[in-house]
Amino acid sequence: MDKLFELLELETRRQNEELNLIASENFASKNVRLFAGSIFTNKYAEGYPHRRYYGGCENVDSVEELAIARVSKLFGVKFANVQPHSGSQANMITYMALLNEHDKILSLSLDQGGHLSHGSPVNFSSKLYEVHHYTLGEDGRLDYDLILRMAREIKPKILLAGFSAYPFIIDFKRLRAIADEVGAYLMADIAHIAGLIAGKAIPNPLSYVDVATSTTHKTLRGPRGGIILTNNEEIIKKVNKACFPGVQGGPLEHIIAAKAMCFEEASDNTFQEYAKNILLNTKACNDEFLKLGATVSGSETHLFLLNTKKSYQITGKEAENLLSEIGVTVNKNMLPFDDEKPTVTSGLRIGFAALTTRGLNVEQARLIAHIIHSYLSRKLDKEEARKQVIEITSSLRKVEEI
Ligand SMILES: *Cc1c(COP(=O)(O)O)cnc(C)c1O
Repeated sequence: MDKLFELLELETRRQNEELNLIASENFASKNVRLFAGSIFTNKYAEGYPHRRYYGGCENVDSVEELAIARVSKLFGVKFANVQPHSGSQANMITYMALLNEHDKILSLSLDQGGHLSHGSPVNFSSKLYEVHHYTLGEDGRLDYDLILRMAREIKPKILLAGFSAYPFIIDFKRLRAIADEVGAYLMADIAHIAGLIAGKAIPNPLSYVDVATSTTHKTLRGPRGGIILTNNEEIIKKVNKACFPGVQGGPLEHIIAAKAMCFEEASDNTFQEYAKNILLNTKACNDEFLKLGATVSGSETHLFLLNTKKSYQITGKEAENLLSEIGVTVNKNMLPFDDEKPTVTSGLRIGFAALTTRGLNVEQARLIAHIIHSYLSRKLDKEEARKQVIEITSSLRKVEEI
């Protein structure tokens, strides 16, 4: 048997036996995986429905039209592009659509909770555009007065909000007013929170922004991929051109079919229940850490930050490694104003989108806080901690059956 089958077996076991608290991951459904692995992968379809550069596109045209109609309804927008291969490419395409080289973007930096593609020095975004960064306030929240002051001074063409490690609700109405005052486009990157918006667990910002980009594989629970949403006809025309032929070639129609399936799944009541449960689990775990005396960020979303340096006198890297010994999968993360390197960090990002899909409940979320807290405080030995983790994971839904 090919080595790959063995690796698939091992990965299935790993996903089932570990407690996955990575805030950007999730478990896609059988149907999403069915379409992601379907024969739609065989089809070349450069262009857009009914305007393709290849014959034989009648079925993929319908697939893509269905995906566009479903995602537009789901987020309450007029227009969508479902072709971006990833969140980063959705951002690249949107910048290409709205900016000329060296135009200005005002965004949050990676080390404060932003994303690589928001102007990190190692990313294309900072090489092609002039990126300025606002910072968070001392309390770890957005400082809207600072954003306003910087926007007035810098006059960016894009004001960008939407983050990878921000645990609070973003006031897009306020950002709209700031963008209007300085004549900037307001762009939302909802990669992390798209599922919470679709599931109506947090406010929908789409009516306030000029354009939104997202991934489809985080809280939204679809295949790995990106989307771009807008109510502005001029913008969608520019986005479509920037996507193809600007940045990408042939769209991944099998992934677009899987996206269409995910948009359908995200539109029903069960998904709204799911989104609500993510928030309950996240808050329960955050609050339990607080009770135990640890330093956590608080949360209004699917994630919070645990300050491991203050709580346990260890770096995020050390905490991540220790927890992996007992089958708890997390990622180290820079905290606002962190003085450690990104490869070390002072804390962890902890999220509940994935485990909530497997049916985790509030009591188990609290228990997870106890296990992590006790293990990182060296009050629980490895065997016992591992046993407690297995007890939880073995009670959850199997990932291949979701
Ligand atoms: C995850 C993420 C992205 C990019 O997603 P990829 O699909 O990994 O390229 C973009 N923006 C934000 C805010 C993200 O969290």
